[in-house]
Amino acid sequence: MRETRMRIGPCRSGPPTALVSVAGFRRLPQNPVVIHKFDVLILGAGAAGLMCAAEAGKQGRRVAIIERADRAGKKILISGGGRCNFTNIFCQPDNFISSNPHFPKSALARYTASDFIALVEKHRIPYHEKTLGQLFCDRSASDITEMLELECRKAAVKTFLNSRIREVRRTTEFVIHTELAEFHAPALVVATGGLSIPKMGATAFGYELARQFGLKIQATRPALAPLVLGSRERTQYCDLAGVSAEVVVATDHHSFKEKMLITHRGLSGPAILQLSSYWNKGEPIQIDIAPDRDVTAAIRKVKVRNMATARSVFQRVLPKRFATRWLDLHAPSDWTNQTLAELERQVHKWTLTPADTEGYEKAEVTAGGVDTNELSSKTMESRKVPGLFFVGEVVDVTGHLGGHNFQWAWASGAAAGRAL
Ligand SMILES: Cc1cc2nc3c(=O)[nH]c(=O)nc-3n(C[C@H](O)[C@H](O)[C@H](O)COP(=O)(O)OP(=O)(O)OC[C@H]3O[C@@H](n4cnc5c(N)ncnc54)[C@H](O)[C@@H]3O)c2cc1C
Repeated sequence: MRETRMRIGPCRSGPPTALVSVAGFRRLPQNPVVIHKFDVLILGAGAAGLMCAAEAGKQGRRVAIIERADRAGKKILISGGGRCNFTNIFCQPDNFISSNPHFPKSALARYTASDFIALVEKHRIPYHEKTLGQLFCDRSASDITEMLELECRKAAVKTFLNSRIREVRRTTEFVIHTELAEFHAPALVVATGGLSIPKMGATAFGYELARQFGLKIQATRPALAPLVLGSRERTQYCDLAGVSAEVVVATDHHSFKEKMLITHRGLSGPAILQLSSYWNKGEPIQIDIAPDRDVTAAIRKVKVRNMATARSVFQRVLPKRFATRWLDLHAPSDWTNQTLAELERQVHKWTLTPADTEGYEKAEVTAGGVDTNELSSKTMESRKVPGLFFVGEVVDVTGHLGGHNFQWAWASGAAAGRAL
């Protein structure tokens, strides 16, 4: 078998496959202190890695998780405002974005929201539905990490925290070098997540490893991210930061009816986060600021049509400060029915071109990733490299807001874990 090697360190000239450069690399220890042999190595103790480990362990596999952080499930802990929106009871394949929209179907069908709810209930974790099928912990997201860690312990999974991976090699099996140890196993699962929230330790490791093994990557981009407005609109609206309204936001192909929030730099809130996953830089977005309402009807009915009347009518429909500002900036030239009809049209199709998203620093997830054509949709195993699996956010499957991203982590993790 051809040896494939990924070395985390400065690229050295010469054979065979040095790839990735990370400042501060020191030479590998010539004699690693400990050699561990397992059936399965999982890189990353996040949502997908923990689920995969527990499922593989239950099948009797000897499983090790190698995690670079000092604790497991850090992103779970900050998710859902600290309460973890752990699934969505209406989760279905339409809630996911992928270059191959059919890819997530198999895993999602075999590990459903009900399966995860059953696990949560088995552990007597109290939860509630917030809105639109989104389930949150009543107490804290740590209920979910503790549950997953307990499942892993019951399945005899070994977790190695604070482990910096120096090299990944494949000979007759996979060999991982960390600073202090060497791990060997016939199967390797990459569950290292995406690029969002770099200050929490997000790395491009999974994508680089996939490339090293010759797998294609769909270009990555921040998703579920707030949008930054251009300088003119920022001046016009951003002093209203904190104001929110129920709107319909749309690009040419997708629309979402939820809350929008004005921020210091632009727009956020569920409607905008959802849209950002479909938005491409340079494209305009349309916002209906008063969905299903005929706002100007009340102005047309009164005898005295003027700005004062319009203000009071708009303020009945929209938050007061936003209504006043929006109307000032879209003040009609006169009060004829024709001009009011144009004002009504603008209310339902306010068109803006955001400057950008707020990037990976603020994005909840990373869209794009390991090309699904490279993987089996049933097992998440690479078609090219037997024994190599990718699960969770590192794969080119991105969920809508509302618990779908965790459901993908559980479903893809379980698919691989059961196949191992
Ligand atoms: C602020 C925020 C809130 C969110 N809230 C929700 C929510 O309520 N509901 C929802 O469905 N989704 C939510 N998400 C998205 C969700 O957290 C992710 O989709 C999910 O965590 C992805 O799981 P994962 O296991 O693929 O990756 P992660 O959970 O990111 O886990 C990856 C793990 O790999 C480790 N790792 C990375 N590089 C290496 C390396 N080189 N070596 C070893 N280990 C490595 C990381 O430290 C991490 O532990 C939220 C995201 C954010 C940022």
